[in-house]
Amino acid sequence: MLAAVTRSPGEMVVEDVSGPGRARAGHVIVRPEAVGICGSDFHLFSGDVGALSGARDFYPRVQGHEVSAIVEDPGDGTPGGATVRVGARVAIWPLLPCGRCYPCRQDRPNVCPNFRLVGVHLDGGLQERLEVPAATVFDVGDLDPDSTCFVEPASVAVHALNRARLEPGEQVVVFGAGPIGLATLTAAVHRGARVLSVDPVASRRDLAKRLGAEAAATPQELTENARDWTGGEGPPLVVETSGEAGVLPQAMDLVAQAGRIVVVGMSSATAPVRPGAFPEKEIDVIGSSCATAGDFAEAIRLVAANRTALAALFSHHFSLARAAEAFEFAMSRPPDAVKIVVTVN
Ligand SMILES: [Zn+2]
Ligand SMILES: [Zn+2]
Repeated sequence: MLAAVTRSPGEMVVEDVSGPGRARAGHVIVRPEAVGICGSDFHLFSGDVGALSGARDFYPRVQGHEVSAIVEDPGDGTPGGATVRVGARVAIWPLLPCGRCYPCRQDRPNVCPNFRLVGVHLDGGLQERLEVPAATVFDVGDLDPDSTCFVEPASVAVHALNRARLEPGEQVVVFGAGPIGLATLTAAVHRGARVLSVDPVASRRDLAKRLGAEAAATPQELTENARDWTGGEGPPLVVETSGEAGVLPQAMDLVAQAGRIVVVGMSSATAPVRPGAFPEKEIDVIGSSCATAGDFAEAIRLVAANRTALAALFSHHFSLARAAEAFEFAMSRPPDAVKIVVTVN
């Protein structure tokens, strides 16, 4: 069978590999159909593994953690997951927590320091057959393959809004209109919130409006627009998905007194903040990472309810044979690309 193997940093080769036999105990064998490429894939692809937990052997690795697949061999039952039947379409919750550490004991496995991720520490979806632990497999019913591989990024958005304690009717400013920002906007609107989307790229602001944003602004025009939009109070909730370090201080200025800021975007850069703003405004600054199994199940319902609108996100498709080209294209960050999908089987 074919697999796109990241052999060493920057080197992805599509080659014939032996693949799994029958499913081992507690595992399921699936046939990946569609795999979304994500900004976080570039770290492993380019050798920037410092951001990944633990010092482990990362290469060679088959990448791909946003996976739509069909069940080929459901194995001996699915401890911790729902029972899946042969032929079912599934999404993969890519997280394998240790179950013992402090966050795991707090039911927050998404920040387990020992977790392993499908497509990072274990082989992922960029291959024709894949064996995964049964607990990672979620039946998506009649969802199509593109929508199914978007369940994973959507679960990141669902988790962020659960961390945010979002209320219906609230005004939310979402920084960034990439896949995570647009998923956050969709999830917020789905819960009855009102969204102002912030992005420097005009085509992304247009897409945000098509997905239900009430308003959209460039980072430069935001301060004035957001004040007007909220009647001078500032938004009660700001969600940062852009990964720009400078957004946090801007969000602290912008957010309402007693408001919340959720930081989802990853950045290794620094930005100065004024600690006095925390007590003065009594704001909550909340981190959000990955998603729990509960968020993942909620994301399936979210994507299913919004599948027609979300279809606009899948801007480019590449075959598995062209996976390396897909990565190169994605890493050049073309402004018209939103979600780039590798179609596998
Ligand atoms: Zn991702
Ligand atoms: Zn743990």
